[in-house]
Amino acid sequence: MTVNVDLENPIRARRMVKGQYRQDTYFIAVCSCGHQWEIRADSAQKVQMCEECSQRIKARKGGRATLRKYGRSFLIGLIRESRLKKPSCLERTVEAWLIELGVFYEREYPLHTGDGWIGLVDFMCEGGRLAIEVQGRYWHEDEKAIKRDARKAAALNYDGIPLLVLTEAEIVNGEGYTRLANHLALKENSRG
Ligand SMILES: [Zn+2]
Repeated sequence: MTVNVDLENPIRARRMVKGQYRQDTYFIAVCSCGHQWEIRADSAQKVQMCEECSQRIKARKGGRATLRKYGRSFLIGLIRESRLKKPSCLERTVEAWLIELGVFYEREYPLHTGDGWIGLVDFMCEGGRLAIEVQGRYWHEDEKAIKRDARKAAALNYDGIPLLVLTEAEIVNGEGYTRLANHLALKENSRG
């Protein structure tokens, strides 16, 4: 992660800082994840990443410590629980579509192969007839996430479970609904 700070274009602004209004200089900062925000001049020199990226790295470090202490299946259970409690807004949209289409689904389905645990699939439909992955912008762009997605796709393919990947854009503009409905209709026909 790196941050580009636009030092050429300072912004003078009065903002609330620790309960008091202060006049300060701000710059536009852009993190390599794509997130953009206004940074105060005194933080501009030492900034390394945006708040979201920093939270993500902290969570990763915490995860590694838990893994060492309690083992893999405990960590998976924790991740699964927290994801079940806090679905992303994209996941909430897809969930609403599945309910509308009358599809039986499980969220955060743990995917295993003979070699061990692969990862959590966002939605597993009709007891293994269709897997759905929601591809958000930030989470799926870094290299590790891309590799993990590929491992999941390969494991599903091996089990003969079709995978439907819905992108953020498709979910937001509603094209994803049509793709999902078509996919389910195709499955229905090929079964009969
Ligand atoms: Zn970032």
